[in-house]
Parts: sequence; structure tokens; C-alpha cells
Amino acid sequence: MANVRRGARTGRAALVRELARLEREARALEPGPGPRKQLRQAAHASAERFLGGLADRPAYDDRPDPGVGLAALPIGATGHALAEVLDLFEREVVAPGALPPHPAHLAYIPGGALYHGAVADYLAAVSNKYSGIFFSGPGAVRMENLVVRWAADLLGFPAEAGGGIASGGSLATLTALTAARDAHGLRGRDYEQAVVYLTAQTHHCVEKALRVAGMGEAKLRTIPLDDRFRMQPEALAAQLATDRAAGHRPWLVLATAGTTDTGAIDPLDAIATIAARERCWLHVDAAYGGFFLLTAHGRERLRGIGRADSVVLDPHKSLFLPWGAGMVLVRDREALLRSNAYHGSYMQDALREPGEISPADVSPELSRPFRALRIWLPLMLLGTGPFAAALEEKLLLARYFRREIAAAGFAVGPEPDLSIVTFRWAPEGMPLAEANALNQALVDALRHDGRVFLSSTMLEGRFTLRMAALSLRTHRKAVDLAVRVLGEAVGR
Ligand SMILES: *Cc1c(COP(=O)(O)O)cnc(C)c1O
Repeated sequence: MANVRRGARTGRAALVRELARLEREARALEPGPGPRKQLRQAAHASAERFLGGLADRPAYDDRPDPGVGLAALPIGATGHALAEVLDLFEREVVAPGALPPHPAHLAYIPGGALYHGAVADYLAAVSNKYSGIFFSGPGAVRMENLVVRWAADLLGFPAEAGGGIASGGSLATLTALTAARDAHGLRGRDYEQAVVYLTAQTHHCVEKALRVAGMGEAKLRTIPLDDRFRMQPEALAAQLATDRAAGHRPWLVLATAGTTDTGAIDPLDAIATIAARERCWLHVDAAYGGFFLLTAHGRERLRGIGRADSVVLDPHKSLFLPWGAGMVLVRDREALLRSNAYHGSYMQDALREPGEISPADVSPELSRPFRALRIWLPLMLLGTGPFAAALEEKLLLARYFRREIAAAGFAVGPEPDLSIVTFRWAPEGMPLAEANALNQALVDALRHDGRVFLSSTMLEGRFTLRMAALSLRTHRKAVDLAVRVLGEAVGR
């Protein structure tokens, strides 16, 4: 017994010594005020170098072997010097490829990287408030629900609506479609009879979500488009009737409020009427177009969006935030709870606490970044006014670009619903294949040049260029530059 006691004591002393050694060695993980300041100042200086020099950089930096230099400094047991590491980051990560916050980033759907959002991310990460469960982060959860409610009001959703902030539109879509599946009581054996209505312009994340949700066998019906790439409601109604008659199970109607290719908005009101009559779930993909609801033009164009069963909006697109925020809103939050609320015994303390709906109960995530702060802080500091003005500016920039590029001799697509313009260089009488090759060469040449970054798509067999004005720093100067560079490229 005495021996055991002595052994325990020496064992304890050794343990205490070992703990002290490890604490010393791990101390680097807890920098004091001095090292924190050094780190922060170096990061701040890097950010200022980036922002200060942004307009002088190419919008697309086309270089051989982009980023491979990263491997020059290996991850090892000891760290590298701060200046050396930040230099590597700037050279190998910041420089190559596209710069979404660049004024002349007019490709795909640009991102904005609103600085207020970046600062909010910093604060969210430092406090690391847990926003999954109300018990743990009551303020963080209330903030998320408040931001969700703000977006629900923007859509015109009722008080029973619910939702959350996911990493982006794709995950938000997955959440919406699983809610739609469970709300309609669809089980594995039903999938082959379940019918989904979409168009050729529906974003691919929808099909991906169906497959990830295990519903890859569902029948997809591609509804014809009108001459402005919008779903034809009469064709939708006819297809629904055909499927009903055949004994299938019409389930999900997918409308897009701002397609990625052309920015077209499907006729939401007419589609909502048909979906309601057919008792189908109506999902509206407003990942790109949603926050144009802050403008009068957007509210008019998006009329009917509030009749949807679920909507996806991407604050990292039309609220100009850094990547990492996609919102899902569901008209009846019970549908989200039905799909997502689970409880483990390790959460029993949390469950005793009444309060608000916890994000973990309406999404597939449990631990997650505190995303609400990056939306709330900018809105609190700036109000919605500057966002509305910036979005209205992008709408007008698209109209302006379309006039200018048409005047420069380019063939232009339809008057834009939102802030994307399609166009191509197609001189009178040039055969389609030749025109397609020419436009392919044009977009490649522009990317090599780098002053402006545009992307392309295929529309009805035509290789088509797109100008998407959505980066928050895109103003008339960048659009004028695009017109000039395009003119030079075709020898005008
Ligand atoms: C960008 C986009 C998506 C996908 O959203 P992510 O945030 O990129 O995952 C879905 N639909 C539309 C219309 C989009 O523009």
C-alpha cells in the first residue's frame, strides 16, 4: 500500500514535469499581446498591399504552373518566418488566376469581398462563438435567426418561415431539396416515380443536390425556354398534365431567379400558380439574383418569389461578401426540422434549454463557422442603402455595356433581366462554326491579356461571351475598359 502511494507520488511529479514541458512547447499557440500585434500588423500590411494595388493588377493573371511554388516551404515540425510565409502566400496564392474583388472581374458570377465582411470573419473567428446550438451561443443563434428573418421579409415569407446560412448556394440547395423530399414523404421506392421540372438553364448544383440526396433516379423534365431563356409556364403546365396522366408523381418545380448564363428570371408568379395548383414544391434558385430585391427593378422582376416553398440566396454573390455564405429559406420551417433535427445524448444539457430554433436543427451541419456576423455587421454598419445603390448601379452597368458593345459592332443578347449581358462577335454572313471558333479565340486572348476577365457559355449552339457586373468595385470605368479591350481584340 505504502509503495503504491509512493509510486503514485513520483508518478504525479513526473506527470507534472511533463505537463509543464508540453505547456511550454505548445505556448506558441497562444501568442501574447506583442506577437499578436506583430501577426496582425503583418496581415494588415499584406491586406493593404492587396487592396491598394488591386486596380493595377490584372483581373486575370495567366501564368505557367500557377501556385506550384507553394511547395517550396514544406510543413514541418517547426515554423517558418512570418515575412517569408506571407510573401509566399502573396506570390503563389493571391497573384495567379482570377481576382474576384477586381473591378474588371466580369466573368462567371463575381464575388465582392466586402471589407466589412472580412473584418466580421476575423471577429467571428477570434471569439469563435458557437452558432450551432442556442444553449452554447444564444446571441450568435439569435443573430443568425434575425438575419434569416430579414431575408425572409425581403422575400415576403410568412412568420412560420425558417432557414439558415450554409457555406454557399450549393449546400443551401441540398438543404432545401431534402426538406422538399421529406415534406412530400418521398421514400427510396418513390424516387423513380418522382418528377422534377427544370430548364436547360437550371444551375447544375440542383442535379448534384438530387444525386447527393440519393434521388438520382428521379425523372427530370426539361421545360422549353422562351426567346429570353426563361421557362415557358404553358409548357410546364402541359408537361405536368402529361405526367399526371401517366401515373407519375410530380414533385418539384425548379425556377431560377437570375440564371448563371444570362441572368434571366423565370416567370415566377405564373410558375407559382401552376405549382400550387399541382401541389408541387416550388424551389426558387435566387443564388445570384436574390438580393436584387433591395432594388425597385428587382422587386418588380422577382414578383412571385414569396410564393415559393423554398428559396436559395447567396450573400457571397449579390451582397458582395467574401465566399462562404449561402442562405436557404423555407416557407414552413417544420419541413426543415423534419429533415434535420436529431439529438445525441452528449447534447442533453443543450436540450433542456428552451429558446430559439438552433441552426443545427435546420441544417445538416453541427459545428460550423459563425456566419451570421459577416452579414449582420455590414448591414448594421452600412444599412441597406449602399447595397441597394450598388446593385442598381450593376443593373444599369449591364444596360450601358449592352448599348456600347452593340455600337462597337457586336451582336448582343436580349435586354438583361439583371446584370449579365451576352454578346458575340459575329460579322454578317460568317458561318456558325467559324464564328464560334473566333469567339473562343477572343475569350482566350482576353484572358491572356488579363486587363479584363470575361467568361463564355454555349447558348443554342452559339459560343457566347458574357459580361457579369456584380463585383462591388465594378464601376463604369471597368465596363468602358472592357468595351475598349474587346474593340481592340476584334480590330475596331
Ligand atoms: C452560383 C450559383 C449557384 C451555386 O451556388 P454556390 O454558392 O456557388 O454553391 C446556384 N445557382 C445559381 C443561379 C448560381 O449563380
